[in-house]
Amino acid sequence: MSDFRIHTLGCGSAKPTVKHQPSSTVVEHRGTLYMVDCGEGAQLQFQKQRLKFGRLRHIFLTHLHGDHVLGLPGLVSTLALGGKEGKLTIHTFKEGKEILEQILGFFARELSFELDYDIIRPEEKVILDTGSLRVRTIPLKHRVPTVGYVFEEAEPLRHIRRDMCDFHGVPVFRMREIKEGADFVKADGTVIPNEILTSPAEPGRKYAHLSDTLYMPELAAKVGPVDLMFHETTYLRDNADNARERFHSTAGQAAMVARDAGAKRLLTGHYSSRYNDDSLFVKEAGEVFPCVLQNREGLITDVR
Ligand SMILES: [Zn+2]
Repeated sequence: MSDFRIHTLGCGSAKPTVKHQPSSTVVEHRGTLYMVDCGEGAQLQFQKQRLKFGRLRHIFLTHLHGDHVLGLPGLVSTLALGGKEGKLTIHTFKEGKEILEQILGFFARELSFELDYDIIRPEEKVILDTGSLRVRTIPLKHRVPTVGYVFEEAEPLRHIRRDMCDFHGVPVFRMREIKEGADFVKADGTVIPNEILTSPAEPGRKYAHLSDTLYMPELAAKVGPVDLMFHETTYLRDNADNARERFHSTAGQAAMVARDAGAKRLLTGHYSSRYNDDSLFVKEAGEVFPCVLQNREGLITDVR
């Protein structure tokens, strides 16, 4: 079981149906939970999937449309009732903070934990760096200010080649800097290059969450090669005009972004309620990009 995985809480779009819940996703990285969007019902789905409220540290809102936000007052009230401790940070636009402060000031006045807001803007910026995970925003094109989020693991340290370090007499107190890429200089001035003393670590894993947006060909270069990309697929090509008018994407357009970014896998979602068969999204995206995953509430996808 991977220690970096994506839990889908809701993968429907604006109109609630009995089949899908509104948008919400939980990114689990080494035991810490990061929520992206919190549509209505997210707190129930969170519990159904046996996720632990105590491990939730950050909530990232992509934009201020109801299907991505309306679950938040309920979730925060529940956290307060449950006696959550520590700190929870909500990353949102300025207006999001103003609205939430008003609602929560009325319904959840007594919090057992520290609730903090981080004001984001529609810009490319690293907004969180925990040392092991970095989160950056990328502006998307929707009817209101919207950002996508890219979760990137810190580049791991290089692996020590014990035999070579022993041979060249590298002392223990130098190991940290050798792992970080430094060369070793012997007492006689001989320089032993780092590549002899270490082997490269596996690259850090990456997840991109891109919802909601018009098709943006330029997005691929901004996101770069990620292991897993969630890109909204609200419509199929039969509704391409609708997608353009409503600032959403079709499955084929999402697949083009995944292909051009060099992503390994594409996770579809934000399915419009007008379609009954979700496999059609995978089929249409699959014409452009080979590795497409069908989404559903309760799905867990490893980032690898
Ligand atoms: Zn939406």
